[in-house]
Amino acid sequence: MRESHIQDVRMRGFKSRADVQDVTEFLQKTTLPLPSEEVLLRDAYGRVLDQDVVAEVNVPGFRRSAMDGYAVRGEDTFGASQYDPVGLRVVGESFPGRPFQGVSLKENEAVKIMTGAPLPEGCNAVVPAEVCELDNGAVRVSDSVPPLKNLGEIGEDVSIGDLVLKVGRKLRAQDVGVLASVGAKLVRCVSRPRVQLVITGDELLPAGAQPRDSFIVDSNSIVLSSLVERDGGQVQPFEILPDRAEVIRTELESGDADVVLVSGGSSVGQEDHAPVLVAELGRLDYHGIAMRPSSPTGIGRLSRGGREAWVFLLPGNPVSCLSAYEFFAGPTIRALGGRNRAWPHRKLTAPLRKKISSQVGRVDYVRVALEDGLVVPIATSGASILSSTVRAAGCVLVPRDDEGMAEGEEVTVILYDDELVDQNQ
Ligand code: AMP
Ligand code: MG
Repeated sequence: MRESHIQDVRMRGFKSRADVQDVTEFLQKTTLPLPSEEVLLRDAYGRVLDQDVVAEVNVPGFRRSAMDGYAVRGEDTFGASQYDPVGLRVVGESFPGRPFQGVSLKENEAVKIMTGAPLPEGCNAVVPAEVCELDNGAVRVSDSVPPLKNLGEIGEDVSIGDLVLKVGRKLRAQDVGVLASVGAKLVRCVSRPRVQLVITGDELLPAGAQPRDSFIVDSNSIVLSSLVERDGGQVQPFEILPDRAEVIRTELESGDADVVLVSGGSSVGQEDHAPVLVAELGRLDYHGIAMRPSSPTGIGRLSRGGREAWVFLLPGNPVSCLSAYEFFAGPTIRALGGRNRAWPHRKLTAPLRKKISSQVGRVDYVRVALEDGLVVPIATSGASILSSTVRAAGCVLVPRDDEGMAEGEEVTVILYDDELVDQNQ
């Protein structure tokens, strides 16, 4: 009974491969953002706001000086010049956090004031220190200042009722700063997707080990962890698992993650247990996708303790694993975390130096270098050659219905780096 079930599941992917676009649309329709949580302001950088933030205070809450100098009544300085300075009596000081202690400024009086200090009652402008000279308890002002000059008004930065930040905003450094300035302590953000890595393979040594004999070092978990972090998810601690169905089953049955990334054992080989297990424990929505690399990718769902988790079966070959993540797991993790599903990379358009051949009916993920402003496909197409992605500046996606792209054709490169890396520049 179990054998025949295995056959069914494994055949499904390879009789007819699903269309990349269909899978993408399915994921898009089926993924909703996770519920929100309160986050401490100092942890909120990079998180996605799940509320509109409306200011309940004015920033600043007081009229303040924008210069170091003297707070005055502007009209008292009228007519002042280098040759005919006006003398004002200095009656006190106002420092940031230590306002002037007197009541109100009277005619021909001044208060020494620093940038950011509250403006004393009665004055309406600040004369910059550069045009002032202190002389025996008086200040000689050699330039006039009109009222309202060199001041910051109440609420000039943020006013009560202002919509400071909108729901859905991925918080930048300065955003968190503004939240602090309006007195926020906790911020309601979309929860970060929790990601369980299920790294399978009898041939794998943990990252940090030296490769030896017929063993290789697990690089997929390192790549995946980095991508998950980029996409706002959090990877849970994990151990490498052997290619044994019972062990993988136990791993898939347990856990509270929102997304499970299975690396390796996702195809139709004898050691490929994951598709069968996902079909048995939950549902395998897709297995086998019309693309290269990554065609053995599977996508499904598990329900554990009443919680739904997405499962992505990523082929073990490192480039396949990377590309399957970028096409399907990445957008889903970003969407769960309230971020934009679209690929987060920068893009550029440039002509191809050499043609790219592809097959109608599948999407190709082609690694390319940039040389002298031209796009150069990297000769090694093998999905096992991870270093090809290191040599590449990015990738070009050849659409399903294209036979390839001709030399000289303008193509869009999805860049791996935030900065532009041109081999020859
Ligand atoms: P699989 O998908 O398990 O059939 O593996 C396909 C290829 O990818 C094999 O050559 C594996 O040794 C290799 N591979 C599997 N898992 C990893 C991993 N975590 N890191 C690097 N290579 C892997
Ligand atoms: Mg394997």
